[in-house]
Amino acid sequence: MTTLHQPAAPAPSAAPSVWPASTTEPRPGDPAVGGVPLSEIADRFGTPVYVLDEAEVRARCRTYRRAFPDADVLYAAKAFLCRAMVRWMAEEGLGLDVCSAGELELAVTAGFRPERIVLHGNAKSPHDLDTALRLGVGRVVIDSPSEIARLAAAVGPRGRQKVMVRVVPGISAGGHEKIRTGTDDQKFGLSITDGHAQHAIARILSQPQLELTGLHCHLGSQITSVKPYLAAVRRMVGLMARLRRQHGLLLPELDLGGGHGVAYRPGDAALDLSALARRVRTELAAACAAAGLPVPRLIVEPGRAVAGPAGIALYRVLAVKRAGGHVFVAVDGGMSDNPRPALYGVRYAPRLIGRPGTAAEAAVTVAGRHCEAGDILADGVPLPGDVRPGDLLAVPVAGAYHLSMASGYNLVGRPPVVAVRDGRARLLVRRESLEDIRGRDVGL
Ligand SMILES: *Cc1c(COP(=O)(O)O)cnc(C)c1O
Repeated sequence: MTTLHQPAAPAPSAAPSVWPASTTEPRPGDPAVGGVPLSEIADRFGTPVYVLDEAEVRARCRTYRRAFPDADVLYAAKAFLCRAMVRWMAEEGLGLDVCSAGELELAVTAGFRPERIVLHGNAKSPHDLDTALRLGVGRVVIDSPSEIARLAAAVGPRGRQKVMVRVVPGISAGGHEKIRTGTDDQKFGLSITDGHAQHAIARILSQPQLELTGLHCHLGSQITSVKPYLAAVRRMVGLMARLRRQHGLLLPELDLGGGHGVAYRPGDAALDLSALARRVRTELAAACAAAGLPVPRLIVEPGRAVAGPAGIALYRVLAVKRAGGHVFVAVDGGMSDNPRPALYGVRYAPRLIGRPGTAAEAAVTVAGRHCEAGDILADGVPLPGDVRPGDLLAVPVAGAYHLSMASGYNLVGRPPVVAVRDGRARLLVRRESLEDIRGRDVGL
């Protein structure tokens, strides 16, 4: 069943910018995305459900391609991956960045060209590396000294695999301590400060099976300022200059990772992509000129900024109660489909959908259904005072690091993903059923 809707008036200008560009409000209180009313999706597919605006995903890919015309843009698959997403990335001319044999295999079996894929990971299993070699992945990003000999041995005497090295530039950036990866005291990469990066590079150069194409760094996630990226460019070019002096090495690629921040709530800061592109390009050209190096080809790896703002989570309210001066509005999902609030204390800006809010707004706490007091989606957010069981809530900016981090907690089953486009809704990923769960439970 599909529904085709009349083009509607744009949403009132008060509509927060955290919604996809296609958002309209054909009937007051009942927003539509991609031409499909969200309440209709909830009724047709059930709740909780994730809605993905295909046009918004594609528009975000195009924004990157336009901002970085000379760079390779790789989508970080861990933000959210399914076969449709793989297809959209291929059609929009992006590469992929994967972290496991699973992500890699899904992408390649969905038709993605393996040479356009980069494999990351601080602890790649033998299966990850074997799968990468078997499928012909474009680059493996070396993240630890032991991986060098392991990968060279797996490549075998006659093979050759392109690799990059994950370098820790010693830069603190990112929205939360748990998503900062540019500093010397975390688990990813090899540090410049203590010389581990330089040692690893010397060892890679001594392995004829490995071809070093460039340096890689990833500072963290949800970064909203250009400055840390410029600092990273300077550190990385500094290392490239040293490698040239020591080894006569000229590296053709420089990967600056992702981490580009988006607004989760109206008024939140977001990273300015065109400023990032412009200033990184200028900084890179200047630093390379000063060091007498040719300018390497730039690679960027956005995840959240491609998928996040294109997704919306829909929940149904199951209970409303007052306790300790709070009004708790409990919904039918929570930390099993979105662990981010519990992990990083992130908060969202949900809104009532499906009917106009008639009562004056009051501050409420939107809680999940799971058996943890920390299962809170939003705190002190305004919702109409008459919000009641049966109502629908929509949480914008739910496209990245929600479903991809979903768990089986409380056996509620992971929600489906529905794509919207041109007034039509279609199922991309179906809801996880009790049958799915029972099917894995094979012992007694
Ligand atoms: C997670 C990750 C990304 C993407 O990060 P976002 O914050 O989603 O942009 C890019 N590169 C690497 C190596 C990563 O681990």
